[in-house]
Amino acid sequence: MRLVNRIGLDGLSAITSRAMNDRIPFGRFFLPGPTEVPFDLFEAMLRPVAGHRSAEVTKVVAGLQVDASRLFRTDRPVFLSTSSATGMMEAAITNLTHKRVLCLSCGSFSHRFFDIAQATGRAADLMEADWGDPNLPETLRERLAADPGRYDLVTVVHSESSTGVLNPIMDLAAVVNEFEDVLIAVDTVSSLSGARVLTDEWGLDFVLAGSQKALALPPGLALAVASERALERASEVENRGFYFDLLKFEKNIEKSQTPNTPAVSLLFALERQLTRIMAEGLEARCVRHEEMAQRTCAWVDEVSARTGKPYRVLAPEGYRSPCVTVIMLPDGLSGPEVVARVKSHGYTVAAGYGRLKESSFRIGHMGEHTIDELEALLAILDEVL
Ligand SMILES: *Cc1c(COP(=O)(O)O)cnc(C)c1O
Repeated sequence: MRLVNRIGLDGLSAITSRAMNDRIPFGRFFLPGPTEVPFDLFEAMLRPVAGHRSAEVTKVVAGLQVDASRLFRTDRPVFLSTSSATGMMEAAITNLTHKRVLCLSCGSFSHRFFDIAQATGRAADLMEADWGDPNLPETLRERLAADPGRYDLVTVVHSESSTGVLNPIMDLAAVVNEFEDVLIAVDTVSSLSGARVLTDEWGLDFVLAGSQKALALPPGLALAVASERALERASEVENRGFYFDLLKFEKNIEKSQTPNTPAVSLLFALERQLTRIMAEGLEARCVRHEEMAQRTCAWVDEVSARTGKPYRVLAPEGYRSPCVTVIMLPDGLSGPEVVARVKSHGYTVAAGYGRLKESSFRIGHMGEHTIDELEALLAILDEVL
């Protein structure tokens, strides 16, 4: 702080900018979360902390609500939670399960809803697809129709970061909405702003995301939208908990505030990043993500043709996430081995997740990454595979 007092904020950010540019090469960090953070977002966080009930911070929250609602394509306000995304997954379960929740699982992150239900003592069943497959609307309809009234909540993931599968949320939501009094909660943690999320049009009751995936912010914030129906449900559920009580979020966001002290610095960064996202345009941003995914898949075909070895994309065509690709490896090569070889060239990718750790690796092509940066990574991969 003494340094800031002497040289001023502009001086400090000029110095740190130069230091960062000299030392940290950008465009080389391809984890499927956290993702690479554009440096100007750290600059936004240099703004001095102010009280979260102050006119200053209230104004920031009110201002960013406009773009945040556009991000989710909703007329509802966007809750800002100082937690990782899992906090809002827990909120979905504890606020919206009255009778019993049906958790659609197709990988590790979607399974987490079920784990949370068990940990918080909510009645829950699983509807599982094999890892690599999507959750399908017909299967869901059969399940809900088999015992009408059994479930009052369905949870599902949009982009399953452990398998690279993109679930057909529009169709799944249409099925859920055929059944009265069943709500749908959607994890869009690794898809929001990289894939289209039409909250109101698709009839989604709860949609949540984290700051550190396609939004390209530092970790520490979760964003969520709750429908009026969802809030009505929450008002009927007694043990909603305290920190993640959605009615408290609603009451506070009406005043452009949060229930407790938020990570104010991250809100400053969010304000800046939403401006960047809207300047690019949401549709253009989704197209850029699709192009990166398509290029990655085409490259996998090239590698297997060139080497004669069975490299393949785990997710089937038509159900591929634009944000993360999981690449299955031929025998004799492990996920951690690929990660280490890529690392020796100064690049970062991820090994497979959970049970796929050894047999696959993952490329997170989301956030601010460009096709050119992706090409540079693929060239390194060509060299090391
Ligand atoms: C990363 C991720 C999560 C967990 O997010 P945290 O911020 O680590 O709590 C949940 N779901 C999906 C799809 C994810 O990619």
